[in-house]
Amino acid sequence: MDRVKLGNTDIEVSRLCFGSLTMTPFQANLSVEEGAKLIQYAYTKGINFIDTAEIYDNYQYIKEALKNINREDYVIATKCYAYSKEMAAESLELALKELQTDYIDIFLLHEQESIHTVRGHYEAIEYFLKAKKMGKIKAIGISTHRVSGVFAATQYDEIEVVHPIVNKAGIGIQDGTINDMLEMIEKAYNMGKGIYGMKPLGGGHLIGQSKEAFNFVRNIPSIHSFAIGMQSREEVDCNVNLMETGEIPEYLSESLKKKKRKLIIADYCIGCGNCVKTCRQNGIEIIDGKATPNERCILCGYCARNCPEFCIKVI
Ligand code: SF4
Ligand code: SF4
Repeated sequence: MDRVKLGNTDIEVSRLCFGSLTMTPFQANLSVEEGAKLIQYAYTKGINFIDTAEIYDNYQYIKEALKNINREDYVIATKCYAYSKEMAAESLELALKELQTDYIDIFLLHEQESIHTVRGHYEAIEYFLKAKKMGKIKAIGISTHRVSGVFAATQYDEIEVVHPIVNKAGIGIQDGTINDMLEMIEKAYNMGKGIYGMKPLGGGHLIGQSKEAFNFVRNIPSIHSFAIGMQSREEVDCNVNLMETGEIPEYLSESLKKKKRKLIIADYCIGCGNCVKTCRQNGIEIIDGKATPNERCILCGYCARNCPEFCIKVI
């Protein structure tokens, strides 16, 4: 698989990034061993780039996988919500400790919305800049579901990598169309920012048109790489084939078409509304005392972590 330099950083990544959220207990629920083997399998197929986050709570899968991966040849991107230097220090130390590594390749501030949000998190950025000087971080970035988030990255030299939501239908973009997003991404790319997209299949909504949706993002010249969740070897093979040839092999296509992801709410939901408060997409509401997802849900699974009854799952 082709590798590219991520903007002006010195980091070289495969054009496909392993989205690791889907292997966690709230989604595919792979064991640590199964998840680690899958990451290793993807690495043998050329995927040297993995995306995680503190809230995914899956560092243990990656730590296990790293036992059979050349760390120097592997790129780990993680994210946190820190806004103070203390929080940033805690998040970095947690990642280093749980991943058992000396450095994180890309540390991102999670879900940045605009220039104001970035300003509000600037103390954390300052901490990461110091950590970068000490060799504990190689590059600093942000993830965002907003065009205004990508714009914010263009206003800060310190932000070297951007992880924006991008898919052909514009699903999950909170403040504009896919064309608005592409225009801003191109601007950031031309400034030398490393760009790796997220949710090329709209969190699963575009699974019925996987090939077209995948190729849409694959063919955007201003996107260096993009993350896609993979839960099985079959999915790894399919995505690697798509990246390399633009096609899904016949033998994989039928079984993958049957996969339709959805958000499941168990009957024992108590209607507390925590999920509604967590969701930034307005993708879930309380109807008749029970949480009910709507068409705005992008199946990110973030709400599941805040459910006191553990009754949300993406399957
Ligand atoms: S957080 Fe869980 S229990 Fe509370 S409303 Fe949402 S699904 Fe129901
Ligand atoms: S309802 Fe949950 S899974 Fe859907 S978009 Fe909101 S946080 Fe994500």
